Amino acid sequence: MDAKQTGLERNLAEILKRAADVACQIQAIEQGSGTPHFDEIEMPAHEVGRRLSCLVQASRAGEVAAEQDTDIDCPDCGRSCHVEINKREVHSMDGPLELIETVAHCRRCRRSFFPSA
Ligand SMILES: [Zn+2]
Repeated sequence: MDAKQTGLERNLAEILKRAADVACQIQAIEQGSGTPHFDEIEMPAHEVGRRLSCLVQASRAGEVAAEQDTDIDCPDCGRSCHVEINKREVHSMDGPLELIETVAHCRRCRRSFFPSA
């Protein structure tokens, strides 16, 4: 692991700790003055993790789409095709999210293909 990655991992750990502190405060407000059962702590905590996962997936997919070339050769006929950016709703294992992805359409072959696939 290089110095940049080490710094990013440390930054992530600090941000996650702050997020956990905020999530605990929200739980405390929602649970009121009684003693919560562990399920009442675990389930909302798990939901916070799912929200983070969806944010990471959408953000990283957008980065990957932005890094794609603007033109790519059709895998069937080799013709250069323009790459477009599409938004699509997907249901990930952690919940629904809006995914940004690249798609190209070959007019000669009358087919679309995904450059990142
Ligand atoms: Zn083609």
